[in-house]
Amino acid sequence: MPTLRRPFNGPKAANSSLGMPSNRFRLPNRMVELTVDLAALQYNFRQLRQYCGQKVKILAVIKADAYGHGLLPVAQVLAPAGADYFGVAYCSEGVSLRQAGITLPILLLMGVLPEEAAEAVAHDLEVTLFCREMAAALAAQARQQSKKVKVHVKIDTGMGRLGLLPTELMPFLESLGEFPELELAGLISHFAASDCCDRSYTHQQLADFERLLKGVRGRGWAVPASHIANSAAVLHVHQAHLNMVRAGITLYGSPPSLETPSPIPLKPVMSLRTRVLQLQELPPGCSISYGRTYFTDKPSLIAALPVGYCNGYSRLMSNRGCVLLHGQRAPIRGRVCMNLTMVDVTEIPGVKKGDMATLLGEDGSDRLTGDDLAAWAETISYEIYCMMGNSNYRRYIGN
Ligand SMILES: *Cc1c(COP(=O)(O)O)cnc(C)c1O
Repeated sequence: MPTLRRPFNGPKAANSSLGMPSNRFRLPNRMVELTVDLAALQYNFRQLRQYCGQKVKILAVIKADAYGHGLLPVAQVLAPAGADYFGVAYCSEGVSLRQAGITLPILLLMGVLPEEAAEAVAHDLEVTLFCREMAAALAAQARQQSKKVKVHVKIDTGMGRLGLLPTELMPFLESLGEFPELELAGLISHFAASDCCDRSYTHQQLADFERLLKGVRGRGWAVPASHIANSAAVLHVHQAHLNMVRAGITLYGSPPSLETPSPIPLKPVMSLRTRVLQLQELPPGCSISYGRTYFTDKPSLIAALPVGYCNGYSRLMSNRGCVLLHGQRAPIRGRVCMNLTMVDVTEIPGVKKGDMATLLGEDGSDRLTGDDLAAWAETISYEIYCMMGNSNYRRYIGN
């Protein structure tokens, strides 16, 4: 047993100590400043806590490096703020949290591969379970390490993604009797359309989940945690809270979709700023950037900004989006390049080299939100945050 555990209790990875940012980027980038406001994060969590009440557990979803906001800094704010559980996608994320000293329950939302079972058990990670191979691998490792593993059995009630079909649930649970090392800690399902105005499908999924839950409890399983609600259901489907909710995007300050605005106030957490690198005065008829997709139609003042798609600023923003300069909107001209984006500041008086430009966040009385950028890039705020947050050095404020 001790030999098995040693590899996982060995020296901590260099970047897992508390003082280091959980960035791939070890040095600040003075040209591109991505800021994460931890006070806003804490505010959003408190709003959610107030809205859900004390009886409902909150699983804070911090997969994908906390939607680009940084796994460890976010966990270190949310744990003392009162999160009950953390949810991550990969085993490695759970291990990073344990190495940083996080002791809260951690759920691996996508389960584990058989070869990850030893690590998951050694670090007391809870596992989303939906197949026999995973159950067998976890049980074998638990036996070897003289431990128990908590599992949350996943049912696909209509998401069409991950989990057992409703008809498979009972036989699967019965078959787990073979593995006394596994402890049923919860039943989990996921909504497919809780962010749509039409909630009929969501109510159907919820009814199916509750029926299955009742059946399982009726056969004598305790099922400590039952959870199906993502942010949209947390905000809009109170009956779906059950005894635990899984909140992701709302923590980071965005509504799950524009179709259903948030009933509680949320503060944006991430912002992205840069500086004017160069100003060009161009006559009419000049093309801007690769492919010559934009031509000046009058004498124009064009600012080059040292940010591009390598910073998670999508090339789909070309000729669509805008940035804030001196609190005013400057439209993007031509294609967004790998490290450069050109904006038109002809209408904004007094712009100088070195002036700050805001790509995401507020400047003066105006603000560009994750949803604004998402609309220009034909995506959702989730992807904007993941792409920007995980492509830049993150600076933390508000803590
Ligand atoms: C990502 C995820 C969530 C969080 O969804 P939000 O819409 O960000 O609240 C909840 N549950 C599961 C299983 C997820 O993968």
